[in-house]
Amino acid sequence: MMDIVNSIDMCYFCLFKILLFIKKIPYNFLVINFRGMSVMKNSKWYEKNYRRHLLDMHIADWDESFLSEFSAETYFENLKRANVTCAMLYYQSHAGLCYYPTKSGKMHGAFIGKEDEMKKLTNMCRANGVAVVGYYSLNYNTWAHDEHPEWRMIEVDGCSKRDKPYSDIPQSFENAGGRRYGLCCPNNDDYLNFVYKQIDEMIEYFTPHAFFFDMLFWPHQCYCKHCQKRWKDETGIDGLPTSFDENDPMWKLHYERRNFWIGEYAEKITAYVHSKAPHLTVEHNVSAAAKGGYFGTCNKVNNVSEFAGGDLSGGLLEESVTCKMYSGITMNQPFEYMFPKCEPSLYKHTLTKTDDHIEAAVFLTAAHHGATLVIDAIDPVGTMNIKSFDAIGRAFAKQIPYEKYFVGESIADIAVAYGLESKSFGLLGNKYTNHDTAVSFIKNMIEAGIPVDVVSKRKDMSKYKMVFASCLWQDDKELIDSLLEFAENGGVLYVGGAENKPLVEKITGGKVVGMTTSNANYLEPKNEFVELFEGFDHDYPLQLDGYVPLIELDKSNGNVRVLATLTEPYTKLNDTKFASIHSNPPGIHTDYPTALEIDYGKGKIIYLGCPIENEGYIIYQKIIRNLIDRYVGLSNLSVSTTSPTDVETVAFRDGNDFYINNVLLYDPKNKPHIPSFEVRVKTESNPKRVLILPDETEVDFVFDGKFTTFTTRETKIFDMYKIEI
Ligand SMILES: [Zn+2]
Repeated sequence: MMDIVNSIDMCYFCLFKILLFIKKIPYNFLVINFRGMSVMKNSKWYEKNYRRHLLDMHIADWDESFLSEFSAETYFENLKRANVTCAMLYYQSHAGLCYYPTKSGKMHGAFIGKEDEMKKLTNMCRANGVAVVGYYSLNYNTWAHDEHPEWRMIEVDGCSKRDKPYSDIPQSFENAGGRRYGLCCPNNDDYLNFVYKQIDEMIEYFTPHAFFFDMLFWPHQCYCKHCQKRWKDETGIDGLPTSFDENDPMWKLHYERRNFWIGEYAEKITAYVHSKAPHLTVEHNVSAAAKGGYFGTCNKVNNVSEFAGGDLSGGLLEESVTCKMYSGITMNQPFEYMFPKCEPSLYKHTLTKTDDHIEAAVFLTAAHHGATLVIDAIDPVGTMNIKSFDAIGRAFAKQIPYEKYFVGESIADIAVAYGLESKSFGLLGNKYTNHDTAVSFIKNMIEAGIPVDVVSKRKDMSKYKMVFASCLWQDDKELIDSLLEFAENGGVLYVGGAENKPLVEKITGGKVVGMTTSNANYLEPKNEFVELFEGFDHDYPLQLDGYVPLIELDKSNGNVRVLATLTEPYTKLNDTKFASIHSNPPGIHTDYPTALEIDYGKGKIIYLGCPIENEGYIIYQKIIRNLIDRYVGLSNLSVSTTSPTDVETVAFRDGNDFYINNVLLYDPKNKPHIPSFEVRVKTESNPKRVLILPDETEVDFVFDGKFTTFTTRETKIFDMYKIEI
């Protein structure tokens, strides 16, 4: 479909050029107008739609009071209070009960006699310019689980989680240790066909702009007969692995298959919706992509989502990291960040975040030019907390004047590689993962006042000067190929860890002959690099918390310089024999390298056997900043600030104009206050004006021939500045 549209555009484009030649009309003028028309023709509901809302309705119907007070009119009035431009509405829920008259499943009992209440709400929203996304829960379907035992996901002990004796499950406040959820297996074609039938029903009954499909991950390894068969058919191996050791090759193979299966499942759902309703946007929840530990990679899932979006509740640093990650992987902008209005999450039903906290979360996503979706939950009887809608409305009202400035491309010289295939587990016995190292690195950059991007997929990285990439597995081959191309073409690539042995051998030109036997090690800088490593030296080397590769270098390779070598402690960490009873001081100096500088094509690769950016201590953070200074120059960064450590700057360039967004990573226990600080931007030209938006108050600035520097005002949570050239 898109290819046909593009080819039509191209024909018109050629025709326009011929007409322009004949008429001698200013070419650029008409190209701009023509492209504007083209954009309008293809514009989608989600473009410029930044204020979104979802009311969880995972409500049972065993008590006839449940949802008895649900009212489309009241719901819509509340959406107006919240100033939203998009409402995600429940057409079905984890409970498996539908909010429409279904033939394939079961409608929620409260809708008997008012079957069209959700349809009314859909139509009311549409009639008033509020976009509608229909919510559907895949796999988490308690009604289907209970009704169709043959569809269930089965754990290694042969039981579904919901069927387990209560005494076997750790108790928790929110969901009886997961036993409220009935899990159906995505590898079961009968269940898939049931989902298709429900999609048919929803498409026929409702007129949404989009569908949102939730729960695209494996909550546990499934041992149902369909998974068993698929495993055998695809691998030829009898019996699904029962190992939970991520260093076990069988576990790893099973992990890869599960990620493939869930991705293929998402592909089937998207394709099915589009086969019936090509105009509908399909969004799958890709929040698992932003999580460490096992929840799935979402790489293939994201590829069939029209934009990246998903819910997280881990706080503002997680939100900042996720915004950068979603922004990097989304097929279309804006990406969508979802957060719960409850503190910390929906399991505290009556505990609402403070106004300042909601505002900080909204503006952190706004600072990245993303769309915010706030999640609230309905009361069992169907009433809604008006105070929550009012609070969301107050935060969204403050965002409205800024939305017209959500334009341009992010400016960052530094990026971090987030490997969707590598993020989940630490290999080699190390505790840290690609996810951990990326999050720590981003925190370091925020605290240093240096804008940073996240790269997760194969892409042109030429806009960056230095990219940090640690603990990547071979599975992230495409991302690794892009990173190597980046270095080949003149970029500086930092690689940490030894999870990918062939990569380490390729870039160092050496051979990995083993790993240290202890995970307490030391990085001993060569004399000329003591300053680079903050004064650590032969006698007092830098402690490394992890197993480190033993690399034998090719001494004839002039492209490789050793910055630091490995020093090991006198004894292993778990030995009772000791040199010093409290610690493991350095004792054995070796020639194995722990830090290398490698000429690679037109660029450089800096290799560290242990990813020191994972450490949160300031001394390690300073060494990382020293590396950036050595290879990029801290005084040469496109954007830098002297902001306090809890203020993040996200910068964009749109044509000749620069937008500088400063946002507080707000700790609810502190006062929401951003003091004045300095912002320095490489504008190359003398600006006409520097403005505080949206009021356009002019700010004094200094231009030194290359950089424009100005001082921000004291403010509360968010400020946006524009530099007009
Ligand atoms: Zn299964």
